[in-house]
Amino acid sequence: MNRPRIVVVGSLNMDLVVEAGRAPRMGETVLGDRIHFIPGGKGANQAVAAARLGAQTVMIGAVGQDAFGEQLVAALQKDGVVTSAVKAVDGVPTGVASILLAEGDNSIVVVPGANSCCLPEDVDRNEPFIIQADLVLLQLESPLETVIHAAKLAKHHGKKVILNPAPAQALPMELLCNVDYITPNRTELSILTGMGAEGEQLEQAMENLLELGIENVITTLGAEGSAFMRSGERLQRVSAYKVPVVDTTGAGDAFNAGLAFAIASNRALPEAISFASKVSALAVTKLGAQAGMPTLEEVEKFSF
Ligand code: ATP
Repeated sequence: MNRPRIVVVGSLNMDLVVEAGRAPRMGETVLGDRIHFIPGGKGANQAVAAARLGAQTVMIGAVGQDAFGEQLVAALQKDGVVTSAVKAVDGVPTGVASILLAEGDNSIVVVPGANSCCLPEDVDRNEPFIIQADLVLLQLESPLETVIHAAKLAKHHGKKVILNPAPAQALPMELLCNVDYITPNRTELSILTGMGAEGEQLEQAMENLLELGIENVITTLGAEGSAFMRSGERLQRVSAYKVPVVDTTGAGDAFNAGLAFAIASNRALPEAISFASKVSALAVTKLGAQAGMPTLEEVEKFSF
């Protein structure tokens, strides 16, 4: 089988997950129970997931010249992601997400750090990877100008572009006009379109994105599955697979990587979404975002 080639332009973060009995009030100190250092960042999570599925995967991004940066790059390499386009920036810390788990809820502070140093010129320097790729996969944890540039360059070379518009923000047409597939969750869809995305409004909001010229809109709906629309067609729903849920962190990243893998392998959209649903269903049965990403063998042999 020819392995599809995917370039991910995106973020790498070290997730510092602190568990405590309760959250401190401002100015207060509490003793926590446990801390975990978990490689994360939407870009890195999606790159690892694509590589586990068997894609030849290149990551374009930035870390600091520090221990977290080294660990994040090593985590990518362990799964076979090509990391020569992850630059190590001097004097800037690696991106960190500080996650407090307390009282059954979480609060998160993300410091982008070196991710802010992933610039359009870094994409240009790695143009040969884009030329060789089947598909470019983007999220919004890198500077917007870089995401816009990557989409433009990918389209210039005739590559397919998937944009996972997370975290949510309004987006300029100069980005959207170079995107073939957009994959918001319901909240992101609502923020992108400025309209509600519940119930009947879902189809209207997705139609709204189609009218902007994006040919394929796929909205992920958590345990409800997903919905997709192509220009000139009605909305179609795809159910989520019923699985024992352990940890839903990274479900969206697994879905996007699965979709990218299937589309880069030239599968038709409904089949690609069904594949992405399997990848993400398997991911939620395991703990950890990167750690929970399944291999192609696991996806193929799992009976849903
Ligand atoms: P996150 O930000 O947590 O990574 P997200 O909001 O980007 O997630 P979701 O819509 O929650 O993404 O999930 C993506 C896909 O994962 C869904 O479309 C669905 O196919 C699958 N999924 C999510 N939760 C479940 C679940 N509980 N059971 C089975 N599949 C699930």
